[in-house]
Amino acid sequence: MVRRGLANSITGRQIVRVQVLHPRPVRRHLTGPEDFELQTAGRTFEEPRRRGKYLWLPFTDGDAILAHLGMSGQFRLADADAPLVPNTRITFSFADGEPGLRFIDQRMFGGLSLSPGGAELPPEIAHIGRDPFDPEFDLAGAVARLRLRNTAIKRALLDQQLVSGIGNIYADEALWAARMHYGRPTRTMSRAQAAGVITAATTVMRGALVDGGTSFDALYVDINGSSGYFDRSLAVYGREGQPCLRCGTPIRREPFMNRSSYRCPRCQRAPRRVRGQAR
Ligand SMILES: [Zn+2]
Repeated sequence: MVRRGLANSITGRQIVRVQVLHPRPVRRHLTGPEDFELQTAGRTFEEPRRRGKYLWLPFTDGDAILAHLGMSGQFRLADADAPLVPNTRITFSFADGEPGLRFIDQRMFGGLSLSPGGAELPPEIAHIGRDPFDPEFDLAGAVARLRLRNTAIKRALLDQQLVSGIGNIYADEALWAARMHYGRPTRTMSRAQAAGVITAATTVMRGALVDGGTSFDALYVDINGSSGYFDRSLAVYGREGQPCLRCGTPIRREPFMNRSSYRCPRCQRAPRRVRGQAR
């Protein structure tokens, strides 16, 4: 269930009971599963919000539940007498009756934690950038912060601090579209180049949304995966040895940050040694 659906179904509702069925999804709640149950019961949800791969469920009292969906986490609505689907980890019952809320997570890389004072923005995720589809996303601000970094462009795209939502596939596609090598030092990039890469990443992500016929929330579940739903429209990722769609030069696959990077050796030339002054 995506954020909007969740908002329609839990906003304004008071929790009466929480049951943690598996301790792992609440491992970041250091005082334990029972304390998580006790601390959350009786509180009332406000409208859920999202940043990057995180969703947070604010309470009216200023605290929040922070949810990291990992690879497989999801929320679903269900009546109390409905059978538990496999991998149901946490259930919430509400004072006004049905339906209840369930957190289901097969692989349990993510989980839920109580974030004191986190209703407006949980401090645990304050460093994460907004995604380009967030109404408050600030392109000029992201460009300025990118150019202050002292790192390689692909590393900056992947670390989620400037812009969230860019995984390995989107990064390679965006860099190809912007004709930029993954190792290009961010401090040597012009404002126009930085804006060009971020805009290219946004375009690639939007294309994935259209192709997949899916929501941005759903896309996040697959952020680091190699989900197949837009493989058919990839220009460079996974195309080692095949001709560049722009110039025909065979695409190269190279290791970068312990992953594969794909680039056109002609359109995306390796950066020259730079002396450190910004252009
Ligand atoms: Zn090329």
